[in-house]
Amino acid sequence: MPVRAVMGLVTLQDIEAAQRRIAGYVRSTPLRISRALTQQIGAPVHLKLENHQETGSFKLRGATNALLCLDEEARSHGLVTASTGNHGRAVAHAAKAMGARATICLSGLVPASKVEAIRSLGADIRIVGHSQDDAMREVGRLVHEEGMHFVPPFDDADVIAGQGTLGLEVADDLPETALVLVPLSGGGLASGVAAAIKGRRPAAKVVGVSMERGAAMAASLAAGRPTDVQEVETIADSLGGGIGLNNRLTFPMCRALLDEVILLSEGEIAAGIRHAAMVEGMTVEGAGAVGIAALLAGKIRSDGPTVIIVSGGNIDPAFHRAIVNGQERGVVR
Ligand SMILES: *Cc1c(COP(=O)(O)O)cnc(C)c1O
Repeated sequence: MPVRAVMGLVTLQDIEAAQRRIAGYVRSTPLRISRALTQQIGAPVHLKLENHQETGSFKLRGATNALLCLDEEARSHGLVTASTGNHGRAVAHAAKAMGARATICLSGLVPASKVEAIRSLGADIRIVGHSQDDAMREVGRLVHEEGMHFVPPFDDADVIAGQGTLGLEVADDLPETALVLVPLSGGGLASGVAAAIKGRRPAAKVVGVSMERGAAMAASLAAGRPTDVQEVETIADSLGGGIGLNNRLTFPMCRALLDEVILLSEGEIAAGIRHAAMVEGMTVEGAGAVGIAALLAGKIRSDGPTVIIVSGGNIDPAFHRAIVNGQERGVVR
């Protein structure tokens, strides 16, 4: 499908407007060349370091844009969302920056370090059930019974436009970008980045990367419609969760704008985290390491400037240590 056909969903202009709106609330993050990965594939590889973003992930971009698009009155009723961690943390941080109150609903699968990080940002936390769906039901209740405003984690035009600002920074810093590897879960990041990159540089390719275990967008793209998958534990915990059977935006955008989706084993993702720590000198969470992992696993070929979106760095320190020491077996398959 031509790029233009989906540009009606979230346009390059929407993303440029978001960039002006959120400037001053989020950081422009560095784009840094990786000598080791460049050598590995024989083309320049650059890392876009969203692990250096305030709150430790790109999610702050979308949440900040979504909140700034609301009027004062809507914000004053309080904000609510469900999240595998980083989106909740971002909403909490953005709400605080604007003097608003945030309530975050989490499933019991969310790691303790992420729950504490959100609590420390001053948000109210509700832990409900064992899946994103359970957490979402609680969100629905709070919207209906207490009049709160829901900030969706990915399937929302303002959120997608905010995430896309990261793609604009890449296009500005490296106009000759040929390939972008983007972590893929609900697809807000991939949709925004692809719309920005392809809007600026139509010939560039954008490839989504997910874990083999419970990759809802990959399963949906293969089925041709939004599809449920069983949610299971994975090292890339920020990539867990479904895309929503009533998905409106990220499914059609990913279908039209992603050139390919690559799936990785847990061992391959662990190797990505290890490489980030030992070779690049960075603490990167599983979801943030999948682009690096895809290159290391030999699942990507590129003959032009390649950008890996390192989407986040929030990982439990003890778990990170275990992975770096090669002791992740027993924790995951
Ligand atoms: C949320 C998240 C993703 C996936 O983003 P989607 O918009 O849901 O596809 C990737 N990496 C990190 C660190 C995240 O927090």
